[in-house]
Amino acid sequence: MKITILGSGTSTGVPMVGCGCAVCSSDDPRDRRTRASLLIRHNGSTILVDTSSDLRQQVLREGVKKIDAVFFTHAHADHVNGIDDLRGFYFLHKEIIPCFASHSALDILQAGFGYIFREQESSGYTPLLTVNEISDPFELFGLQVIPVPLVHGRTTALGYRIGAFAYLTDCSAIPDSSLPLLEGLDLLIIDGLRWTGHPFHYNIHGAIEAAEKLNASRVILTHLTHEVAYSEGCKLPPGFEFAFDGMEFDLPYS
Ligand SMILES: [Zn+2]
Ligand SMILES: [Zn+2]
Ligand SMILES: [Zn+2]
Repeated sequence: MKITILGSGTSTGVPMVGCGCAVCSSDDPRDRRTRASLLIRHNGSTILVDTSSDLRQQVLREGVKKIDAVFFTHAHADHVNGIDDLRGFYFLHKEIIPCFASHSALDILQAGFGYIFREQESSGYTPLLTVNEISDPFELFGLQVIPVPLVHGRTTALGYRIGAFAYLTDCSAIPDSSLPLLEGLDLLIIDGLRWTGHPFHYNIHGAIEAAEKLNASRVILTHLTHEVAYSEGCKLPPGFEFAFDGMEFDLPYS
């Protein structure tokens, strides 16, 4: 199984429009962050996690030729606004892509992007995505996928666990009921946002504390703002790193 971080940035992306701070004007390419998103490749199938506002740029950068499924973590704008960029894959392959999301995320997605899910009589455009509402573990492309309910401020998000890997973006707490789903992780990618606090996200200290409780072997902090320079990764405890766009991991799946 191959995991690629397509985007490691918070909702504004980094650099943020109009900002001239040290991180926004940094020469380090790892300080240039598109909106949070992930690619999972296994046995010739490609799963996209979230259709970020930067989807087009991300799939061009990584040379992605086909998407076989889309998982949504939640329906905040930075995680869904690139949904229309999936059209190119439909034009090439003529295959409607199955998407997986919670009931609440699907409600928002279908209200905001009706034409993606249903053929519009007026336009004649084919739908791009079919809907799969999930809450329980499911099997896809030979992988056992476990949705992990997360607290995201006043709302909720889904993390995803596959094998010994979990992706928990956009969370401010992990409910006790989700803890058993996260035992024995080799790789954890988790929301770390920034050094200072935020009501909807773990900050770096909170993410470290949560990850230490889970005892994951390797932890990557993602969804980072312009408060965080990649070079500050040296301040993190052993086993912790900052994410960057294009970061890749090869993991055995069993
Ligand atoms: Zn977000
Ligand atoms: Zn800045
Ligand atoms: Zn969010």
